[in-house]
Amino acid sequence: MIHKGKKLYEGKAKIIYEGPEKGTGVQHFKDDATAFNNLKKSQIEGKGVLNNRISEHILKNLNQIGIKNHLIKRINMREQLIKLVEIIPLEIIVRNIATGSLTKRLGIPDGTVLDHPLIEYCYKNDDLGDPLIAKEHILAFKWATLDELKKINDMTFRINDFMVGMFRGIGIKLVDFKLEFGRLQEGDKQEVILADEISPDTCRLWDVVSEKKLDKDRFRKDLGNLIEAYQEVANRLKIFPEQHNITEVKFNKPTSIKIKKK
Ligand code: UDP
Repeated sequence: MIHKGKKLYEGKAKIIYEGPEKGTGVQHFKDDATAFNNLKKSQIEGKGVLNNRISEHILKNLNQIGIKNHLIKRINMREQLIKLVEIIPLEIIVRNIATGSLTKRLGIPDGTVLDHPLIEYCYKNDDLGDPLIAKEHILAFKWATLDELKKINDMTFRINDFMVGMFRGIGIKLVDFKLEFGRLQEGDKQEVILADEISPDTCRLWDVVSEKKLDKDRFRKDLGNLIEAYQEVANRLKIFPEQHNITEVKFNKPTSIKIKKK
């Protein structure tokens, strides 16, 4: 049993508590759903549990390909043990297909496949509605250094490549998603690592065949069946209903091949 300490931060969909050891935290996934900068709110039973599992799966896989992130381990149905980082106040948006705010802002037809992934930066500030900003703003207001920004971009493109492939393999198009990064202090060393969550709350996921939306747009656009859609993503990732233990693959003993000499 992992004991959590005092509440450090409460966001729209998650709460962060102090963790059992210095530098650790407990990230709790709530069932609250919000959209349009908190104008639309609801509780969707089971959403937090699904996001906890899906985000754990993705972050674990990213760790295995060398993308450092804050996840230590999932503790229970709703909580993860994490490394506490200083969150960089940026929302990094990656787009593979134009939709959502991009189509509204620039009049790009919905569904346009982009030749290259597009990165956009937003200033993470609810009071201002997370406004779109340029790289120059980030440097001018020292929200991140040029070196940090380069690392964020490199990691973001690798994460996108990995996730596009992962979702393709289960018949899902990764349309766009949002990432957050943080500064991890270890002794006198500081490095930028991936933080927050990656889930259907923060990605747009379309079924390859039917184009059915399997993400938070079901809530934003009142399409219904949000839990069923998130569950579908989890099922395809093979993380439900099993406890997500990968069964050991047993190989037969190699049979020796005798080569007859002529
Ligand atoms: N996104 C997010 N949190 C935010 C803003 C965006 O997770 O505060 C995700 C969103 O789910 C989508 C992508 O980032 O997958 C791009 O969102 P967009 O800018 O199109 O926002 P929206 O259309 O929701 O305003």
